[in-house]
Amino acid sequence: MYRFLVLFLVLRSLFTPVSADKGKLIQCAGTSSIVSSIYYEKDSVKDKACERALEVERTAAKLYDFLKVSPKPFPLRVVEKSDEAAHEGDTLVLAGAPVLDGVKDSEMMREATIVHEVGHHIIKEYLIKNVDFIREYDQFYKKRTLALKKWNEDYLPEYERLQRSGKSAEEATDFMLSKHPSFENMLKELMEINSRPEMDLVPYVWMPYHELFADLVAVIFFKDLDVMFKAIHTEKTPEIKMKFYRPRSFSRENKTEEIRGLNDPHTTLSPIRSYLGQLIKKNPTQGQQLELLNRVRDIIVEEINYFYSKHVTSFQKMGNYKGKGLDITLMNMRILEKLED
Ligand SMILES: [Zn+2]
Repeated sequence: MYRFLVLFLVLRSLFTPVSADKGKLIQCAGTSSIVSSIYYEKDSVKDKACERALEVERTAAKLYDFLKVSPKPFPLRVVEKSDEAAHEGDTLVLAGAPVLDGVKDSEMMREATIVHEVGHHIIKEYLIKNVDFIREYDQFYKKRTLALKKWNEDYLPEYERLQRSGKSAEEATDFMLSKHPSFENMLKELMEINSRPEMDLVPYVWMPYHELFADLVAVIFFKDLDVMFKAIHTEKTPEIKMKFYRPRSFSRENKTEEIRGLNDPHTTLSPIRSYLGQLIKKNPTQGQQLELLNRVRDIIVEEINYFYSKHVTSFQKMGNYKGKGLDITLMNMRILEKLED
């Protein structure tokens, strides 16, 4: 029975979540209170790492101050890919030298990107505290990341060597079981992890809400309904990408029909972005807008609880999900009704 698991793991190792410490550690003066540690992916971005870290530290400090929340530190990883910006696990991932569609990023674009990614960090921490299944997922994710890292580093190279030398999957597994006393425990731990496929549903449920919150944080912080739209495109951005970017605007009327086929969590809740844009105009003070942000955050808690319990039964029956079957109209309508209350 282990044989199939090992085969599965060999395939799975191709998709291993990137661990926080991937890359080399670097110390940078002036960071520490928010950016807890800094990694650079390759030597080509080594001399950019501290520059980026200081920019993150400065921007995140302004943001936390604006939101009146105490900072929760996070690691930063600086990578070579020039248009990279992400929040993975607990880690903020940013390009060493950001370039967007052949155009060098402006300071505004870089700062908006940082604020958006820190927005992900803020909502993630809030959801871990306030949603049981997300707290469970967070522990599961950490456990899985560690186990797969251990698998990839301690066992996979030898397993692949055995296979290359002509052993079948079964023979290689048996050989490893007899040679390493800890191998069976490793497999048991991985089997336990693989017996929770519904955990893969969790990010699909939260992603559209995460993106909405991260964009809304940026819109309110920069006092600009189009800040995220501006930050992700240039005059050279091709039309095919613009279809995904325009619905990020909070000032235009985003329609359900134009986003239905995109299957992109950044745009799933775009109709509600339009409505929030109107609310922001009607509530011009910082106090009113922070209240609105908190209101949206609390609605998000209700919504992901609702959609997780709605989808988890059918997920367990089908065995997969991949974001299909999202009722975009319902998702937007439910938030609208709550905001109108
Ligand atoms: Zn995002």
